[in-house]
Amino acid sequence: MTVRRGRNFLQTPGPTNIPERVLRAMHQPAWEYSGPDFVELARQCLYDIRPIFKTEGEVFIYASNGHGAWEAALSNILAPGDKVLVPETGLFSFAWSVVAKQLGVTIDTIDNDWRHAIDPDQVEERLRADKAGEYRAILMVHTETASGITSDIQAMRRAIDAAGHSALLVVDVIASLACTDFRMDEWGVDVAIGGSQKGLMCPPGLGFNAVSKKAREVGEQGGSPRSYWDWRSRSMTNPEAYRWFAGTAPEHMIFGLCEALVMLAEEGLEAAFARHRRLGDCTRAAVEAWATAGAMELNALVPEQRAESITTIRMAEGFDAKAFQSLLRDRFNVAVGGGLGQLDGKAFRIGHMGDVNEPMILGTLGSIEAAFQILGIPYGEGALPAAIASLAQAHGN
Ligand SMILES: *Cc1c(COP(=O)(O)O)cnc(C)c1O
Repeated sequence: MTVRRGRNFLQTPGPTNIPERVLRAMHQPAWEYSGPDFVELARQCLYDIRPIFKTEGEVFIYASNGHGAWEAALSNILAPGDKVLVPETGLFSFAWSVVAKQLGVTIDTIDNDWRHAIDPDQVEERLRADKAGEYRAILMVHTETASGITSDIQAMRRAIDAAGHSALLVVDVIASLACTDFRMDEWGVDVAIGGSQKGLMCPPGLGFNAVSKKAREVGEQGGSPRSYWDWRSRSMTNPEAYRWFAGTAPEHMIFGLCEALVMLAEEGLEAAFARHRRLGDCTRAAVEAWATAGAMELNALVPEQRAESITTIRMAEGFDAKAFQSLLRDRFNVAVGGGLGQLDGKAFRIGHMGDVNEPMILGTLGSIEAAFQILGIPYGEGALPAAIASLAQAHGN
């Protein structure tokens, strides 16, 4: 095993850096799961997670990753044979639709080149064409972690309303939650799906479903045969706290999550969004300077659609993004994400989500430039100065 000294720079778009405070909160013996202390803490956590989604509705917490939370949402609102519309955004929207297919759901997709956000007009058109009202739900990814693109949820709501369609709006906010503004109730989202290991700064292992009244009603009457994922038995209206987690609670994950929620409350959600925007702008400033030499470019073509939490960089033909990623890991102890799906081997991704600050991003960008130099990958000059200038400007000068 290679010995790597100093801090590991985990600049992957999940899992992300876990703050010491979260780790310390988890470092304790198990608690009696039905004792008053744990029940009180769990209740607190289930309430305090709501403002993160900007919802007053119930949020269900699963001992699962994001894939589990996907399945949870689908199995509560859809039955085999139901039809859904999936505006494609990248590998994650695709993988989610595969889960739906495996559950017996029929998928209609809207194609996308992975370089643009969802086009709400196309969604509206499809919904208008669905005269029989067959689509039960629209499955959309807010920030697509493969492409580095954020789609407009409000525009999606407007498209559904303009078409006068009754489909539920189901949104994967795994890579945007606590990084980018998201307003569940105000934007009329029916189910929002989250995970613990991205903007929430926790270890992988918790999945979330935030659920509107309308979706709850659909889940009461319909959905698929289910047990572990069932919103009905997990509701906090159930006096038996043991049922909130469908068995023994993932206590240590809850300890960590409680601490992360305290940290986010201290910072303020809006300040956390501003920090992500600042670090995103700084990263993009560097990439745009590198890109002038023609060996790489930002994957997202429309500036306003570029994600605040993750940047996907597409390499020109003939450059091996995997070799670059390995060198960065081996020589500099910096982890970045690789290209996914159709971008496999052709792109790399810089995560700037969760517990990150300016020096971490500047260190990452500097190491990336050194790796370009070692590998003889052409890059434009002035990337680091551009990144620094972007930060200085964001901080008021
Ligand atoms: C990370 C991620 C997922 C998958 O989450 P897992 O915890 O790996 O199952 C799904 N959707 C998006 C947008 C993601 O970023």
